[in-house]
Amino acid sequence: MSGSVTVIGLGPGDFRYLTPAASDALDAAQDLIGYFPYVARVPERTGLVRHASDNRVEVDRARHALELAASGRRVAVVSGGDPGVFAMAAAVFEALEAGDPAWRALTVTVEPGITAMLAAAARVGAPLGGDFCAISLSDNLKPWKVITARLGAVLAADLVVALYNPISRARPWQLDAALTLASEHRAPDTPVILARAVGRPDEAIRVLGLAEAREAEADMATLVMIGASATRLIPREGGAPFVYTPRSVGR
Ligand code: SAH
Repeated sequence: MSGSVTVIGLGPGDFRYLTPAASDALDAAQDLIGYFPYVARVPERTGLVRHASDNRVEVDRARHALELAASGRRVAVVSGGDPGVFAMAAAVFEALEAGDPAWRALTVTVEPGITAMLAAAARVGAPLGGDFCAISLSDNLKPWKVITARLGAVLAADLVVALYNPISRARPWQLDAALTLASEHRAPDTPVILARAVGRPDEAIRVLGLAEAREAEADMATLVMIGASATRLIPREGGAPFVYTPRSVGR
């Protein structure tokens, strides 16, 4: 089979965060597949067929990409941030595993991107300097009780926790439930970072204590990071504090 699928991370927003390798892969594509806000970020050009979808079933989109590739097309599937982080890359491999065995002969590659967690961390300092983990709060693909069990375990293990998909119109209460659980494990002044639309014109970053964060507004464009017990602030005159987590533990 001569076709290919490249799953491409577009980074958090600003095109300067797109890697040169991802940019080359976009230039080489004949078909562009993805959720419409991500497809909209890729400039139009002749020879590029755009298949923007508002279908949230990622595996359907992945199957479409593999079908096009099997017919000989060079297909780019795009995700925001990194495509391997709660995004299209896993959907492509899920469709590949379940689909036509001939698809396994296709060239399938993944071009990494800067995920929201790393872009947000860089804005405020070095909150991920120690051990950390990432959890999606969306219960579309997994039961809520699995999410709370994992969250409770990593809070007890004193990791910094990055929460993706913290809230949406269909899921208005999960973030509050997660922060309530966090307050059972962490002090009320533990730094919490609410990083909204990082790398986009409407970027807004807040660093609040855990108790205040429970009162704060967030939306689906927000990445929430809950500090570990060692995560601290360096206050500054006339500027936002730096936030960091020391690498050393127990010294
Ligand atoms: N693949 C993406 C994540 C997809 S899940 C990545 O690697 O970043 C979607 C969630 O990611 C959103 O609900 C939000 O929590 C987070 N997110 C994506 N882009 C963001 C951005 N620019 N700023 C803040 N959070 C973002």
